[in-house]
Amino acid sequence: MGDDNIPLELTERDRWGGWVMARLDDGWCAALDRSTWLCTIYGRRPMICHDYEVGDNDCIEERRLHTNARMESHGASR
Ligand code: SF4
Repeated sequence: MGDDNIPLELTERDRWGGWVMARLDDGWCAALDRSTWLCTIYGRRPMICHDYEVGDNDCIEERRLHTNARMESHGASR
């Protein structure tokens, strides 16, 4: 995220010291509007986010993994 122009309050350092998008307690990116499911900084989102297209295979796989992880943390079975 070095050259990206991201609001600092939406970022945090990971365990390796790199800057990443912060996540809120629900696990989703801090820049995600929870009511619309749209990115609140879409025009200046990190370059890594440009690599994901909504609904492409990577996107669907990430959503599947995240949804399964959330269900497991709440004790639900698949
Ligand atoms: S596009 Fe990137 S910055 Fe925007 S909500 Fe999604 S993960 Fe966060």
